[in-house]
Amino acid sequence: MDLLSLVGMATKRRSDYFSQAQTLAKKYKSQPRLEERMKAESLGLVKGLRDKLMKWDEYQRTILDKTLVSALAACILGIKDDKTDRKLEKCWPIIVGDMLPPLVKFLAETKEYIDSGVLRLGDQTVDFADYNLLGAVPGAIDLGVDEIEGINPEEEGVVEASQGRAQGKTWPSLADRLSRYLATPTFSFYNLGQYMVAQDQGFKEMRRVVTGDKKMCIDCKNYGELGWVPIGEMPMPGKGCRCHDRCRCFIEYR
Ligand SMILES: [Zn+2]
Ligand SMILES: [Zn+2]
Repeated sequence: MDLLSLVGMATKRRSDYFSQAQTLAKKYKSQPRLEERMKAESLGLVKGLRDKLMKWDEYQRTILDKTLVSALAACILGIKDDKTDRKLEKCWPIIVGDMLPPLVKFLAETKEYIDSGVLRLGDQTVDFADYNLLGAVPGAIDLGVDEIEGINPEEEGVVEASQGRAQGKTWPSLADRLSRYLATPTFSFYNLGQYMVAQDQGFKEMRRVVTGDKKMCIDCKNYGELGWVPIGEMPMPGKGCRCHDRCRCFIEYR
């Protein structure tokens, strides 16, 4: 599916998405719980596709829906009760612009892996239970905890590539990758919701507070060192930094 038709489908279903997102936000109540839920759903979807419980078109459409609904729900959680509808309208084009272009590419790649037999439908040789979704792949190079700790996101990317998990070329790695559309971006969109409120409340400055752990990337470190900047002049966590959706910086306003 190309980007234009995906955006077209999304636009048509916008009000549905808004009300589904309200329900989801009400049910999970916090961003970490929403993220957990969406991780589980990523795994469920990939298993459903592999086990032929779901056809490709349904898989694709469900992912489009869930990507947008979970992002909207995360914004709602960030906005809290503060005049949600109007602020959500402002979040919508940002969500669509951020998520749909990479999603189109990701879905096309997955389809290609299926068509070329890299991913085999009905292949039961791997048990998803053996995999920690965000952890290492069994049988891959076993890194000790100490070795992993010093690693930065760039090195991590190289390690992932060498294990074949970053590209979604195995079913479990596909589930991991899908969670980077459905689950991990909720952190950034939660922050976007909070930003809409801060802007409305007349805060003038913002700063990015970095987590300070060893996995923090150089971009986040630099944002942290900038200190207070005028509101709107700093990207949300996960944007403009090479740790992307895995960034867990938070934003303060004054
Ligand atoms: Zn970063
Ligand atoms: Zn960060």
